[in-house]
Amino acid sequence: MAVIVFAESDNGVYKKSSFEAVTYGKDLATKLGTDCIALSIGNKGPENLGSYGADRELNISGDVFLTFNPQAYAKAISEIAAANNGDTIVISQTYTGKSIAPLVAIKADAALVTGVVAMAYTDGGFTVKKTSFSSKAIAHVSLNHANKVLTVIPNSYMTKQDGADITAESVNVSVSDSDVNTTILSTDKETGKIPLTEAELVVSAGRGLKGAENWHMVEDLADALGAATACSKPVSDMEWRPHSEHVGQTGITIKPNLYIAAGISGAIQHLAGVGSSKVICVINTDPEAPFFKAADYGIVGDAFDVLPRLLKRVKEVKGLA
Ligand SMILES: Cc1cc2nc3c(=O)[nH]c(=O)nc-3n(C[C@H](O)[C@H](O)[C@H](O)COP(=O)(O)OP(=O)(O)OC[C@H]3O[C@@H](n4cnc5c(N)ncnc54)[C@H](O)[C@@H]3O)c2cc1C
Repeated sequence: MAVIVFAESDNGVYKKSSFEAVTYGKDLATKLGTDCIALSIGNKGPENLGSYGADRELNISGDVFLTFNPQAYAKAISEIAAANNGDTIVISQTYTGKSIAPLVAIKADAALVTGVVAMAYTDGGFTVKKTSFSSKAIAHVSLNHANKVLTVIPNSYMTKQDGADITAESVNVSVSDSDVNTTILSTDKETGKIPLTEAELVVSAGRGLKGAENWHMVEDLADALGAATACSKPVSDMEWRPHSEHVGQTGITIKPNLYIAAGISGAIQHLAGVGSSKVICVINTDPEAPFFKAADYGIVGDAFDVLPRLLKRVKEVKGLA
């Protein structure tokens, strides 16, 4: 038995969610009385995953992993799991994680649970708590299968850095071009922005902002806070903002520590993607806007007045004014 954790990195930078997944994997391994083995693929981050609790770190490289391909990654992860008696595989529920987890589950003959938000209960069984129905409900799922794949929602599990240093071991797997039947021809990446799925602070806006030309208020506040920017679906449909910022049932699901929503009504489809945020602050002219029911802090006011005042105050507090 072992817990295998896929530690995702992007061009030599580990994602923060990878550290959360390793901490989760270690805590789970401790409960199960086994080891936590972190697996990095390709150009790994410089951090020592031992400090987050990994007992071993394995690293796989090779030409087939130079560009991300879900089939190649899934084959590698399941091969490593099989070679190390890894019966539980932990993957962070990022875009990458979501695309590989079902493939890994098939290859590893495992039960798959997505949307995990808490440590598994292992007394007399194996039960995990997960979000359900677009985050409107919580389900407790009991897994009766020997092999398991869990995807853990980023920002659900706090990292711990109380482990020992380890040295990554290079390992080989038998993944070749013939194992992948899709080819990534090109990739366009946004640079210089805080990735929405990783962000701890998010400033978001909706149709109440009236037009793309007013988004400087959102961007300025996000810059001052060190936050990512997001938007409602109609805003991206009207191309005021890129689709990569669309949060909700049909967009990205996020769980930041603070979600500031200006001029967003709070429709159930929007809440599906942001309702699990730790603190929600809503700015809306309509005191009856549904979003206020989900808010921790509500400001009944005009975003065109409130956002500049918030920016001024944040700059004063941060000494940026
Ligand atoms: C199948 C399906 C899937 C969907 N998926 C998504 C999804 O993933 N994400 C998503 O967001 N939506 C989704 N929607 C759409 C959703 O139902 C709502 O229509 C949408 O979220 C509304 O966007 P909004 O709040 O920006 O706009 P509106 O509903 O137009 O709300 C604008 C809000 O701004 C307020 N306002 C106006 N002026 C100001 C001002 N000056 N200052 C402050 N407040 C102001 C208004 O009072 C109002 O509450 C989906 C719908 C369907 C049917």
